[in-house]
Amino acid sequence: MKTVSDISFEGKRVLVRVDFNVPLSEELQITDDTRIKATIPTLKAIMANGGRPVVMSHLGRPKGVVNPKFSLKHVQQRLAQLMDCEVLLANDCIGSVVEQLSKELANNQMLLLENVRFYNEETDGDSEFAKKLALNGDYYVNDAFGTAHRAHASTAVIAQFFGDSKCFGKVMAAEIVNVEKVLKSKDRPVTAIVGGAKVSSKLAVLENLLDRLDHLVIAGGMAFTFIKAKGGKVGNSLVEDDYLATALDILQKAEEKGVTIHLPVDSLNAGSFSNEAQTMVSATNSIPDGWMGLDAGPKTIEELKPVLLESKTILWNGPMGVFEFSTFENGTKSVAEIIAQSTEKGCFSIVGGGDSVAAVKQFGMAERVSYVSTGGGAMLEYLEGKTLPGIEAILN
Ligand code: AMP
Repeated sequence: MKTVSDISFEGKRVLVRVDFNVPLSEELQITDDTRIKATIPTLKAIMANGGRPVVMSHLGRPKGVVNPKFSLKHVQQRLAQLMDCEVLLANDCIGSVVEQLSKELANNQMLLLENVRFYNEETDGDSEFAKKLALNGDYYVNDAFGTAHRAHASTAVIAQFFGDSKCFGKVMAAEIVNVEKVLKSKDRPVTAIVGGAKVSSKLAVLENLLDRLDHLVIAGGMAFTFIKAKGGKVGNSLVEDDYLATALDILQKAEEKGVTIHLPVDSLNAGSFSNEAQTMVSATNSIPDGWMGLDAGPKTIEELKPVLLESKTILWNGPMGVFEFSTFENGTKSVAEIIAQSTEKGCFSIVGGGDSVAAVKQFGMAERVSYVSTGGGAMLEYLEGKTLPGIEAILN
């Protein structure tokens, strides 16, 4: 896989698609710069190899309209600080003025283009627009894993205008290498924990993973659809009644493929969906009417512990419960801690595609797992076994 470290860019303009879609406060200040920080090694490698980066991104959802609220100028200063170089801002992402600016870049300068989503042509995947964007670079680098599942002009369509002069940035390369490591792992047992709210949103992930696993832990709200399908009483817990048959089908397929399924045996139940709710613990198949399971119970965690500690590869997607409420965070927190312990024993662990990433960050565990994915939706589609247009465009 070709990345920015393998190319000499001497004196060339390198057009890099990054994901600077950072959260902004009411005062338009960056509240979390993780995504900017993530691309710094890519941009530094381009400069170290003699290249002049021309950076393009989307920010927010301007829906094809120029809107100062979504200007990349909000990112300019932070980028300059992190890169320790001068960052020029173009007032557009296409056009002769922008192209000229890219050609006049000096060493130790970079150009930041204005929001590509100020044009509807970006999300439409318009090839004329992509061609105009392409005039701003001699090479094309894609480092925006978060949008790799979209066939947009700047993330996929543009690649055709660069022949062999294109490659992955370091963020993209790391995502691909790490997810592939899990999907093709021979370090067994391989365990996936799939949690979160709904079965419907994780169905394709479950089906694709079944061929690759020894253990599948079904957790969070989606577990109750499985428990109800097996005849359990789940009270007012989250259930998707349209998916009861599908749940049974997944359990049967798992059995045929020799995958051990782990469903929660007990849950911490709430009288209402609130952090201040009254609580009680019960078996997951006999939750009283009026109560809803909002977290994994203590027995469930005890049973999972040896499975996770013996695993050599772990993929974690989706929380064990409503971890946003401190009353119901224990299951997610405990599983994060056990995965961290397993990682210390040599297990390769990856967290991604959903709220489990927010959870490991919230509990300060991000440094204690092997890899945390940055792209939620893109990671989910990758785990579903789909071909991502942003990856495909570079490889072709
Ligand atoms: P997802 O985006 O599918 O990974 O779902 C994450 C969301 O699922 C989080 O916001 C959790 O609060 C929610 N969740 C996890 N467990 C439950 C549960 N038992 N009941 C309701 N929501 C849950």
